[in-house]
Amino acid sequence: MRPYTMLIDGRALAGGASMPVVDPATETEFARAPDCSGAELDEAVAAARRAFLTWRRVDIEERRALVSQMAGRIEPHVQDLARLLTQEQGKPVAVAVREFDSTLRFMKGLSTLELPETINEDTPVRRSTTRRVPVGVVAALSPWNYPVLLSWWKVVPALLAGNTVVLKPAPQTPLTVLRIAELMTDLLPPGVLNVISGGDHLGPRLTVHPGVDKISFTGSTPTGRRIMESASPTLKRLTLELGGNDAAIVMPDVDVGLVVPQLFWSAFTNSGQLCVATKRLYIHSSRYRELAEALVAYARTVKVGPGLAPDTQLGPLQNARQRERVQALIAESKAQGLKVLYEGEVPAGRGYYVPITLFDNPPEHARVVADEPFGPVLPLLSFDTVDEVVARANASDFGLAGSVWSRDEALALDIASRLETGTVFVNEPHYLSPHAPFAGHKQSGLGIENGVDGLLGFTEPQTVMWRRG
Ligand code: NAD
Repeated sequence: MRPYTMLIDGRALAGGASMPVVDPATETEFARAPDCSGAELDEAVAAARRAFLTWRRVDIEERRALVSQMAGRIEPHVQDLARLLTQEQGKPVAVAVREFDSTLRFMKGLSTLELPETINEDTPVRRSTTRRVPVGVVAALSPWNYPVLLSWWKVVPALLAGNTVVLKPAPQTPLTVLRIAELMTDLLPPGVLNVISGGDHLGPRLTVHPGVDKISFTGSTPTGRRIMESASPTLKRLTLELGGNDAAIVMPDVDVGLVVPQLFWSAFTNSGQLCVATKRLYIHSSRYRELAEALVAYARTVKVGPGLAPDTQLGPLQNARQRERVQALIAESKAQGLKVLYEGEVPAGRGYYVPITLFDNPPEHARVVADEPFGPVLPLLSFDTVDEVVARANASDFGLAGSVWSRDEALALDIASRLETGTVFVNEPHYLSPHAPFAGHKQSGLGIENGVDGLLGFTEPQTVMWRRG
């Protein structure tokens, strides 16, 4: 097999050291990725700094023309890349293909965004305008749940706005991103996009690097806090997309047959390893039992297994640490006497599998309700009134997203307006758009991704005050 290489200053580099990449369905090493050294990191940042001097001056339409060719480079290879993504991430191949579909949709949509220029004052005496200039070198750190999509959410707008990038995928899932980088090698001028991979040592080194001007990170809230500290010595700009504990609110007028599959997948897509997955399911008390039984019946039909098997719908968790965290949460909840409504089956033998687990109306303070499981675990909770459920949904340090399910659109929209989250989905599970700002309230993040607001996050304003004559 061809070795995996990093992309530094326009060249493919195998690097001096390597690290194992484990298949979560077998728990065995199946490939090795470069483990970037300090010197190689310095080289990548230096290349990005050099390239910034010219890339920032390239006309935005020329940059757009190059960036918008990225999707075309990937498209012919989607089937092979999706299988590789399955091997390193664990998700079923069909779900991996969907990650590519979303990535291509976002690549195309994000590359059409326009940077605004505003006229603040225009009189015979003075003209004042504000344009947007790039920040500099962007460190993009993407997570292991959606390694491809979440990498390109950062790279496309950063490059379009005139920045150069050092992209670092998560240590557990570097391979697909490295292969995609190979496809980009001759598309962009050397140093404009650099892609490096490495173990847990690399993220902190990249985020404190004095040559980096902006950090864009997706991952957990605790790591987000550490990254803010890394950013403070040089006041690096920051965008953080962190954890969530999304509430779904199901009103009594729903059609059970219609909503049950959607509610199930809103929680369990990617085995629950999704920042905007439903993590608390509030069901009106008058329909609680009926919906709970229908969800159990649906859960029984879902096939858990290795992502490469054609009939698998849910794969293993991505890594051993995550499986331990989720298993510990389930064990602790059972030990507290919380009632299990359903516990599914997982394949015997190896693989980081955790069974689909539904908890029956646990108390609000239980950790399975208050914390983000990031696995196939969901508490079902009964509520009586709108005021009560809105208060319970908002009683969280997180504020990423939430959803409302009702045939009464006016009521659903009113409830949506009362949720303290950056995104609310109404009668649909997590549809995101390259044109819509995506931002976490409270401890779910800082800054914005996507939409013009997300693009602006990769820029600084520059105001020119011109005294005429
Ligand atoms: P994590 O997502 O916090 O990422 C840990 C990674 O961050 C490590 O690879 C480490 O190298 C790096 N890191 C640590 N300190 C850093 C620093 N100062 N600067 C830069 N990088 C640094 O942790 P995890 O263990 O992979 O996942 C834990 C939890 O994160 C999950 O349970 C889940 O709740 C959440 N998560 C969220 C998302 C999301 O999409 N929002 C994605 C993955 C994980």
